[in-house]
Amino acid sequence: MPASAFDPLTDRAFLAWTREVCEQLQLEPGRAEESNDFLAFLGKHFTLNGELPADHLAPLVQQRRIDVSTRWARRLFDRARRETGLGIEEALWSEPPGHREPTGLTQVGNTTILAVREPDIACETGDAVQGYVMDRYRTVWPVCPGHGLGYHAVLVGGAPQWECSSGAHRVPMPGEHHR
Ligand SMILES: [Zn+2]
Repeated sequence: MPASAFDPLTDRAFLAWTREVCEQLQLEPGRAEESNDFLAFLGKHFTLNGELPADHLAPLVQQRRIDVSTRWARRLFDRARRETGLGIEEALWSEPPGHREPTGLTQVGNTTILAVREPDIACETGDAVQGYVMDRYRTVWPVCPGHGLGYHAVLVGGAPQWECSSGAHRVPMPGEHHR
């Protein structure tokens, strides 16, 4: 089958394989919508390698989660250092896939990142950096300059944003915009 004929939204073999490996790896892939970067990632591997067994796919899922989470975490830690003036350590840690965690552990601060889609990973990483700065440095970050209240991470229209605790407004989370 030529690669151009492959459509991840309708390809039955792909969809069956996706269901199977996601169940085995305890992953929630999300809906097959256009913005689903995790399904696009699975589609790329399916066209390159066919129906990879779950234990071969697991380290690829783990590496991707580490890469995406690290990219967001570095930007957030940088921003937190600039805005608080604190020497905040880059607290990133991971453990390879094992029998306890089928796709390994990916940790930012004290939080385990479980998501697989980039916008969800970004939100989890935002919460994780915020929680770490609070636990370790007893500092609320980020803070809305208008209200003096903390922000929290929310997903709006597929994009990670900080929402002011007043509920009045949101700002984009610092990072590359989701493609
Ligand atoms: Zn505000």
